[in-house]
Amino acid sequence: MSQAYFNASLPKPLIVVSACLTGARVRYDGDDKYQPALYANLDGQVTLSPLCPEQHLGVPRPPVQLVITADGLRAQGVDNAALDVTESLQHFCTMQTPLLDRACGAILKARSPSCGIGSTPWHQQGAIAGYRDGLFAAFIHQHYPWLPRIDEAQLDDLAMCGQFLHRARLVLDAQLAWQQGLLDAFRQHHAGEAGLDPSLLAHLERKERTDD
Ligand code: SF4
Repeated sequence: MSQAYFNASLPKPLIVVSACLTGARVRYDGDDKYQPALYANLDGQVTLSPLCPEQHLGVPRPPVQLVITADGLRAQGVDNAALDVTESLQHFCTMQTPLLDRACGAILKARSPSCGIGSTPWHQQGAIAGYRDGLFAAFIHQHYPWLPRIDEAQLDDLAMCGQFLHRARLVLDAQLAWQQGLLDAFRQHHAGEAGLDPSLLAHLERKERTDD
């Protein structure tokens, strides 16, 4: 059945990507982080949807970092702790739900306070205390746990890139099956398949019940 969902006439997996990786000059310093692997390894296989969680704060803009404070995890200015953009970034995240509802995966910039996947330093009392997700990457993981996430370093690894694509295609397959009322058939066909996150089926089943 999976192949039935996949042919040239069907949409490609929609992939959210950190805009700076596509060559957009949206970083705090006005530069980009263009990644040739984005196109060399994925060309023609996905539809990229670039976005930058921090662009609305201005380009260029003061750099921010993640800090644990008495009020919890905050995104504060590196040079000025009085600059706190946490709420602004959280608002950006919630505004992306229509896009994330349709997305099949995310390619995100490592180490960014917004985009990093487990690679973003967080600080306490002036020193790096550990590494975690950036705020946007964490939002995706919390609200869309079935979406595969990969950063630009992992994208260079063809095996990891292949696994990412496989998982993104499964998400697309499931979305299409759900739209066609074929979720039961999809579930039976893919039962126990590696790369299929159970939370995706649970999510689609919830939607099925809600839409009844
Ligand atoms: S917030 Fe994300 S997309 Fe924007 S410049 Fe930083 S790493 Fe790139």
